[in-house]
Amino acid sequence: MDPELAVRLRSSIERGFERTDTANPRPGTEEGSTGSPLVVTKDRLTRVLACEAHDVASEFGERRPTVAMACGVLVDALFRQLVTVGAINDPMADGMDALACDDQQRPLLRWIESLPSAVRRELEVEVVRQAEALVARWPKLDARWLPRTQETMRCALSGGSLLLTARVDLAIGSPAGKEASIAIVEVKAGKRRAEHRADLHFYALVETLRRGAPPFVVATYYTRTGELDVDPMTEELLVGAARRTRAAVGALVGLAQGASPRRTPNGLCGACAALPECDPGFAYLESRGNGLEVAGLDGLLER
Ligand code: SF4
Repeated sequence: MDPELAVRLRSSIERGFERTDTANPRPGTEEGSTGSPLVVTKDRLTRVLACEAHDVASEFGERRPTVAMACGVLVDALFRQLVTVGAINDPMADGMDALACDDQQRPLLRWIESLPSAVRRELEVEVVRQAEALVARWPKLDARWLPRTQETMRCALSGGSLLLTARVDLAIGSPAGKEASIAIVEVKAGKRRAEHRADLHFYALVETLRRGAPPFVVATYYTRTGELDVDPMTEELLVGAARRTRAAVGALVGLAQGASPRRTPNGLCGACAALPECDPGFAYLESRGNGLEVAGLDGLLER
């Protein structure tokens, strides 16, 4: 891979950011100005590219918990436990204990505890099924590979005015200067989606920008099925990730400056906080004949 690639990727994103006028942030927020960086995560990037109005609604509204979301968070916690401790004893109890230790997950914990017993039972059955599959399929990782769960990766650009940040489910291997030496794995409890690859490419971009070397491979592991989607990293994938990030940054800066958010119906409409006031979103869902998102296990298929 071109040794100057990280420099080129960085300047491409910075040029896109700096071409926008960050001197006039939207009233009420200084994000993107010198006072506070514009923070870009994989979720925010996906949201704003899918629909700007959805991103604004997600920023200020509460995210509605669903059974699918709860299952994903619980299985993520069990995956971390399996990698770090080597065993899962009582999947539902272990998962709930992990949520109780995380301040950010307390609202979800309370929501799960308040579920009707039949729905909670349905959730538990799926969590146990996926945990058993994880234990059966996931290999024990040699400690010499330095497996790390929930590693946070950050890269500040444009003098700190723009911050790309990611937290990966699993990183393996130790950084070795300019050599591609680590692997990144993301765990998903739901079904395969095209966006998952784009998420991983964003992680690879952040890793490349912060260390000067890309991961040699990124992969998504699907706990429902045991499928592993593997992408050896290439220059083309990183350039594509930088272009996508640059487009999202442009849209976010536009919103910060007070531009009217565009509504572009998409697969996120069913779970969008702005849906009750969004005619295009309703029309889109009606045209697909699926109405509001089902908050039961069917939702797992869409996560
Ligand atoms: S309902 Fe759909 S179109 Fe409307 S704001 Fe949300 S994501 Fe955008």
